Amino acid sequence: MPIPCSVSLSLPKSLRRHMLFASTVALGFVSVVHAQSTPTAHKQVEHFVDEGAANWKLVSQEIWGYAELGYHESKSSTLLQTQLKAAGFAVQAGVADEPTAFIASYGSGKPVIAILGEFDALPGLSQQTSPDRDPVVANAPGHGCGHNLLGSGAALAAVSVKEYMQANHIAGTLRYYGTPAEEGGSGKVYMVRDGLFKDVDVVLHWHPGDHNAIINGGLLAVDSAKFTFHGVAAHAAMAPDRGRSALDAVMLMGNGIEFMREHIPSNSRVHYIISKGGVAPNVVPDLAQIDLMARNPSNTVLTGIWDRILKVAQGAALMTGTTLEVTDIGSDANIVGNDALAPVAQKNLEEVGGYTMDASQKEFALKLQKTLGIDTPPSLDETNVIEPLRPVDPNAPSASTDVGDVSWTVPTIGFSTATFVPGVAAHTWQATASAGMSIGQDGMIIASKAIALTAVDLFTNPELVKAAKVDFDRKMAGKTYQSPIPADQKPLINYRGN
Ligand SMILES: [Zn+2]
Ligand SMILES: [Zn+2]
Repeated sequence: MPIPCSVSLSLPKSLRRHMLFASTVALGFVSVVHAQSTPTAHKQVEHFVDEGAANWKLVSQEIWGYAELGYHESKSSTLLQTQLKAAGFAVQAGVADEPTAFIASYGSGKPVIAILGEFDALPGLSQQTSPDRDPVVANAPGHGCGHNLLGSGAALAAVSVKEYMQANHIAGTLRYYGTPAEEGGSGKVYMVRDGLFKDVDVVLHWHPGDHNAIINGGLLAVDSAKFTFHGVAAHAAMAPDRGRSALDAVMLMGNGIEFMREHIPSNSRVHYIISKGGVAPNVVPDLAQIDLMARNPSNTVLTGIWDRILKVAQGAALMTGTTLEVTDIGSDANIVGNDALAPVAQKNLEEVGGYTMDASQKEFALKLQKTLGIDTPPSLDETNVIEPLRPVDPNAPSASTDVGDVSWTVPTIGFSTATFVPGVAAHTWQATASAGMSIGQDGMIIASKAIALTAVDLFTNPELVKAAKVDFDRKMAGKTYQSPIPADQKPLINYRGN
């Protein structure tokens, strides 16, 4: 179904008057281009979000239906690009050797403010917008991380900020980064490596969740790779002495990891599967493989752990007379927070506020909560609560995101908003259900507004951009960002084997 584009303006008279006033002032005093934003500015941009909401809810629904896996999000990416072009953005597609990555820009000069959008789905999480397990197509992908909302909500924010900039003659560059393959493909890592964020002053992002809060740092740095051992095949009964078992190497590597586990920080995670383990028990396996991921709250600590894992793998090869090949290296850094941006983002999220479910949403949500197996599910009023700004707990259970790598390069701040029914975790069919319906879409609008308000603050207050950079430099002092992905490794377009 084609999506109508509804970015034209039909402002109420009072707001049009405000805008006329703002434009006149901007023409009279050049310095007003960087004036401090006012409640009026916030109201204007919120209004633009409200104007675009119906259209972008439809876009999010369309992408939810496409449910395309990482690096293969061609329909989702094209739809976002088409919509952004129609809204007045210039689009550069296929950046960083990623066919579905793109950058949409508006305006020119400094500051450069970027908003991140994702749109990939997860395997096996296909689900109707129903409170009982009911896939659209069995075993097919689904938007269990809500990236259909993420990409669309971020784009709605971008379009609304563009409308605000245009109406008020605001200088600067606004960019929307269409970033594919967040789920395990490290799409943004290659975009960072290609220098696509080099001139960006501040990055804004958000992620669907079951509560409203600021993302000021946190999440786990992750490294991953396939460790393939090559041995010599032989008859396992008649001539085992002639064989060299690649499976032995895999098992010794696994043992090495288990012994190492005691001697790494306890908030680390190392998890793996034996992805290849031979073909028959009476043939000494000449090929076996471990597919492994390691995580830690600190990128720097993880680098040390990763070096030790490589040594364990080399040791396993040495012990078994096999050879080792390490391929398909993936990596996401932890998120570096920004203490200059966080209070501003918090204030803006509080200003936007949450939302209250209507009767039919509540009925759906209560039914869905019954499938979670939680004794006392969280109150549905959670969608209306804005959590206070808290320091990151490095020991809290967490996941990883390639936003981390961006945050090691540019001052970054993010939001999480209640798009999933309270109590629903990401990467579940319940999350897919929430992301395809009005609950997800209402939560998405909260994110769009919070991002838009923060972008307006950044465009109108150069001191804030400066303070963000100062805090970034302070946090990065003595640290260097280096991805373990080899410089010549291209994005792993078929990392899902698709
Ligand atoms: Zn996810
Ligand atoms: Zn996600």
